[in-house]
Amino acid sequence: MLARFTAGLFNIVEWRKAQKKLRLLFGALNINYMRFRELAEYFDKIQQVQSRLKMTGIIAEMLQKTIAGEIELAIYLSQGRLGPGYLGLEAGLGEKLVEESIARASGFLRKEINEKYKELGDLGLVAEFVSSKKKQQSLYREELSVKKVFENFEKIAKASGAKSQDIKMKMMAELLNSATPLEARFIARIPIGNMRLGIGDPTIMDALAIIHSKEFFQKEKKEVEEIKKSLKEKKEEKRKEELERKIKFRVRELVEEKYNIFPDLGKIARMLKEKGLEGLKEVTISIGIPIRPTLAERLSSAEEIVEKIGKCLVEQKYDGFRLQLHKDKEKIIIFSRQSENVTHMFPELIEAAKKQLRARQVVVEGEALAFNEATKEYFPFQVTIQRKRKYEIQEKAKEFPLKLFLFDIMLLENENQMLLPLEQRRKTLAKILKEGETIALTNSIITDDPKKIDEFFEQSVEQGLEGIIAKDLKAKYIAGARKFAWIKLKRSYKGELNDSVDVTIIGYYKGRGKRAQFGLGGLLTAVYNSKKDAFESIAKIGTGMSEQNLVELEKMLAKTKTEKKPARVESELEPDYWVEPKYVLEVRADEITKSPIHTAGKANGDGFALRFPRMVSFRADKKPEQSTTTEEIIKMFRQQKHVQIEGEKVEQMA
Ligand code: ATP
Repeated sequence: MLARFTAGLFNIVEWRKAQKKLRLLFGALNINYMRFRELAEYFDKIQQVQSRLKMTGIIAEMLQKTIAGEIELAIYLSQGRLGPGYLGLEAGLGEKLVEESIARASGFLRKEINEKYKELGDLGLVAEFVSSKKKQQSLYREELSVKKVFENFEKIAKASGAKSQDIKMKMMAELLNSATPLEARFIARIPIGNMRLGIGDPTIMDALAIIHSKEFFQKEKKEVEEIKKSLKEKKEEKRKEELERKIKFRVRELVEEKYNIFPDLGKIARMLKEKGLEGLKEVTISIGIPIRPTLAERLSSAEEIVEKIGKCLVEQKYDGFRLQLHKDKEKIIIFSRQSENVTHMFPELIEAAKKQLRARQVVVEGEALAFNEATKEYFPFQVTIQRKRKYEIQEKAKEFPLKLFLFDIMLLENENQMLLPLEQRRKTLAKILKEGETIALTNSIITDDPKKIDEFFEQSVEQGLEGIIAKDLKAKYIAGARKFAWIKLKRSYKGELNDSVDVTIIGYYKGRGKRAQFGLGGLLTAVYNSKKDAFESIAKIGTGMSEQNLVELEKMLAKTKTEKKPARVESELEPDYWVEPKYVLEVRADEITKSPIHTAGKANGDGFALRFPRMVSFRADKKPEQSTTTEEIIKMFRQQKHVQIEGEKVEQMA
């Protein structure tokens, strides 16, 4: 017994010595691998700050401390993921299993863990609490490196088969065993995918811009001179600040340009770490990596469209879902509007792409919707959306086959098409598309006559479509941005805003009166200010929710409650509970008004608000950063005024 104990002790001593040696070796080679403890300390600091600027500064410092092999891991972990968003790689450990792992690692009973969870509402805090009060201490405590933590979560994600649950919990308990209380807080949050840090991709890009501004200043002398010429400030100190700001902005632009065609900030950060700004040149569009979609602006009449972009390609606007198809010989990958891999959902499109796309390598984009071959009519969106499913895929594909209307091409035989004008891209698209039943080009006309646009619009609406999208024939494919290359014109709904608005929930109010039983009486919602990377309040919403909606909402939101206002939220109203910006709702309203109580687009004391907002649906397909932006709200406000003035004119004339 004693012999075994001494041998065990000896092993631990040896183990600790080996760890120390490894650290010394890394130190001698000047490789400073990061311990997970340091990362957790940064996460803690990030969670403490309320200003986004400070948060970005801390992230920049954190990323500077990592070595090339770790920077991507640190980025993914900070967002509760195991890879870039489009891979959808999550550890996938439900709350129940996390509770069980915490119990195993700490010696507490599962029931005790569950009670603590009910009290604290966050498994991270539960893990931290029990870790500081551990009933059993592990002899083999290992100092955790970022790599080790990441690798364990990868194993958790990959485990499958009969014993997978056990393997997952073992991996998790192993990490929790070695973790300090602070580390435990974040380790428990990673598998749930909610780090409660609010680090979105824009914040990471800002941090990368901070890190590489100095390099830009030193290397890009010509461009820096140009920037210096454009400075407006007169005083030396202020000029310096303006220069710094502009350089940071420029570096941010360079990073974002690459992010739009290669949305993997982990890999981009790694290239930057290894090769500096020069590394960005190696980031190119690639088969299998989704390109961020170009977005449409709004205008309210055909005249305005022609005034803005002249002769244009006017396409029917189909109400289905947007898909990006990547073809590499016989291999087809399909991405959704949110850049998720949805290939398995659309077997008929895979077959059709193999037959109809005459190219070895190609990336194309279009809108898919269910089409009733019998009546030759498009099915409504409610039918099409049934095709986004995990089960009974083949059955539904037979019941509601999709038709894909292509409208763009981004890559052909290894050649980037995005920089070519639309007119040329459209011709190429027509050339590579073989006639067939499933894939077709969008119906379109080319014109500079507003009357023809109106006729085409009416025709489309009669066919049950949403309206039209007019496209600038000279424009390149502008990934990830809403520019006037595309302009949408939709059916208008009398007495309402002619488009719905997508808002992010930032807080909620307790139910009172009849709603007390649901625990939720209303929502505080916000639009997204993409320039500031902030969520600005725009409406309190209390209608449009069914009783079932209220119950579901309360359940969802209770899990994302935060004690303080989250760092990226800007609101002067105080809801009963703040929540992480996570859930997006589609709302309709009568109009946009100016309001002193909301912060959306606030200037001179007034922000914008939605008048009589009502919930239409959950937008589970949208991330908070894809909510309607403040800029769009301002434009919609102006257009709405314009429409009213037009209306008044008509009345006067009558
Ligand atoms: P957005 O995609 O602009 O964030 P949204 O999801 O609310 O907003 P809409 O405002 O209705 O969508 O309009 C844009 C969408 O219309 C495109 O993203 C695309 O899915 C769809 N669409 C339908 N027909 C076309 C077309 N011919 N060309 C481009 N997009 C089209």
